[in-house]
Amino acid sequence: MTQHHETDTTPGHAGIDIGGTKIAALIVDESGAIRARGTVPAPAREGGSAMADAAARLVEGLAREAAVRLRSAGVGAAGVIDHQTGSIRAASATFVDWAGFPLGHELSARLEVPVGVENDVNAFLLGEAAAAGIRDDVLGVMLGTGVGGAVIIDGELRRGPHGAAGEIGHTPGYSDLVCTCGQIGHLETLASGTSIGLRYAERSGRHVGGSREVAVLAREGDADACAVFHAAGRALGRACASAATLLDLPRAIVGGGVAHAWELLRPGIDDALRTDAPVSGIPLHILPARLGGDAVALGAIETARSLALAAAS
Ligand SMILES: [Zn+2]
Repeated sequence: MTQHHETDTTPGHAGIDIGGTKIAALIVDESGAIRARGTVPAPAREGGSAMADAAARLVEGLAREAAVRLRSAGVGAAGVIDHQTGSIRAASATFVDWAGFPLGHELSARLEVPVGVENDVNAFLLGEAAAAGIRDDVLGVMLGTGVGGAVIIDGELRRGPHGAAGEIGHTPGYSDLVCTCGQIGHLETLASGTSIGLRYAERSGRHVGGSREVAVLAREGDADACAVFHAAGRALGRACASAATLLDLPRAIVGGGVAHAWELLRPGIDDALRTDAPVSGIPLHILPARLGGDAVALGAIETARSLALAAAS
C-alpha cells in the first residue's frame, strides 16, 4: 500500500475560530464528519499577519494529519466583518492591527483555497442552527466576556447594511449600570461573564472572578450568587422576548461560557417569559447551545462550503 499518496486524501473543509486568546480549527470531510481539531494561542498583540500565519499553520497541520485535501476554509472572527471582502471593519483594542486587515484575502493566499469570513457570533448561530436542523427563523445570543447576538430570518443571516445587525448585548433598559461600551443599562451589564462577576462583587463585597466562579457558589446555595444569575437570566429572557416580538422569532439559542450554567439562568428566563412573553401568544423557546466550543468553527464551515459550491459552479 502506498501511503500519503494524493489519492489517499479525501476532500474537505476547514473551520477556524479566531478569538482574542486562542485560535481553534476543525477539519471536516464532505460528509461533515470532524477529522481533526486543534488549538493554538492567538498572537493578537502581534498584528493581523501574525494571526493569519498562526491560523494557516494550524489548519495546514490538521489537514495533513487528517489526510484531507482542502477545498475551502471558513473563519469566524471577533469584530465587525465586511462579509463581501472578508476584511475586518472594526475590532476591539485587544486586537492589534486587526481593524482593516484583509483576513479573507490573506488566509486565502496562504491556504490556496477560497476563504469566507464571518463574524464569530454569526458563525456560532450558523453552526447551532445547522446542528438543530433549523432552516427558518432563530435568534442567537452569545454570553461570553461580552454579549453578542445574531439573527437568521428565512434561513439567511441578517447581517445588516453595515454588518452590525443583531447586537443585542448593547440594547438598553436592563439596569442603571455602565456598560463596557460606555453607555448605560445595556443587557451586557447583567448577562456577560465579566458582569456576573462584577455584580456578585457589588452584592457580596467579594471578588471571586467571573461567571464560572459565581456559578460554583450559586450551586452551593449562595443567595447573592443565585440572585446575580437570576437577574442575568431575567434580562436575557426579556431581550429574547423583545427580539421575538419585533421579528416574530419562535426560538432563541444561547451559547457562550455563561450558558454552561443553564440551570442557574433558567429560573430568571422563565420569570421573564411569564411577565414579558411576546404578545402574539406564540410560544418563544429559549434553548441552550449544543455544540460547545465547536460551534463557531462549524458555522464558519457552513459559509466555506457555500463558497466552494459557488466556485465549482
Ligand atoms: Zn453596551
